Amino acid sequence: MTNAFEQVIRNIGLKLYALDKRKEAGADLEGVSDIYKNILISQKSLVSKILKENIKDIYSLPLPIRGKTFDRPLIGSMRINAGRIANLFDFFIKNIPYDISSGLNNDTEKYLRNFFNYNYDYLTRLKSDEIILFEGFLRPFLESMAIYLKNKDGQGPSEYNSNDNLDNFSNTCSFCGGEPSYGFLKSDDETQNYLMLECSKCGSAWRYYRVQCVFCGEEDPSRLEIFKSDKYGNAGLQYCKICKNYIKIIDLRNNQTFIPEIEDILTIPLDIWMHKNTPLEISASSITNPSPSSKGD
Ligand SMILES: [Zn+2]
Ligand SMILES: [Zn+2]
Repeated sequence: MTNAFEQVIRNIGLKLYALDKRKEAGADLEGVSDIYKNILISQKSLVSKILKENIKDIYSLPLPIRGKTFDRPLIGSMRINAGRIANLFDFFIKNIPYDISSGLNNDTEKYLRNFFNYNYDYLTRLKSDEIILFEGFLRPFLESMAIYLKNKDGQGPSEYNSNDNLDNFSNTCSFCGGEPSYGFLKSDDETQNYLMLECSKCGSAWRYYRVQCVFCGEEDPSRLEIFKSDKYGNAGLQYCKICKNYIKIIDLRNNQTFIPEIEDILTIPLDIWMHKNTPLEISASSITNPSPSSKGD
């Protein structure tokens, strides 16, 4: 796991660097990018603490067997040391120098036990500030697990194969069951001709169909409207007239060094516009499984 956590620290470093570069270039958002930066810094302190103190008993690793724990391999079979995680969560909260942590329930151990008992469903019952913190806190763990599983690729039938996630073509992550935060377009060998989806929980990305609603599976291009703005030219919103949901699509084909997660934060005004101007039926639970399709680009 150590290598996976080190990789997470490197990834956070890349995001912080990208965020600073984009801010220098004038792509700032009042307050939002600073809050985000603080969450990244807190994640980095958390992982550094885990590495420095050589904490090994956070959870025992699942060894997903395909078809058995495939639904949510990261969470499904994880045995959690809730007391240990509660201490780390306290540490995480203290590292966020913002008031966003102030409303959080003090009984973190009970919180975390409930959270893991009910898996992600519990998250939907938390208030929004708490969701941001919970997801921010969980991200390094889930990301490190996903990296760990990918690195174990091809070592026997009980091991997870990273191609299962790359060729997932589903609207939820095959590692952790998370929903995509956004889609992105890139033009390297693995990604071209696909809409890539990135998991909101563990950060894994997988291929999806270029023209298909992520929520209901609608494939008719005339029913999938794209909203764009000159100011945020590298992102567009794909709105489905059938199910009235949208997903942000970030185009990195001209800027392969950009990081989708950072571009998503910097284009929040597009989401605000969509919420104000279009009848939406957005909720985490609106994700359903579209029927499989062989549609390409
Ligand atoms: Zn995931
Ligand atoms: Zn739809």
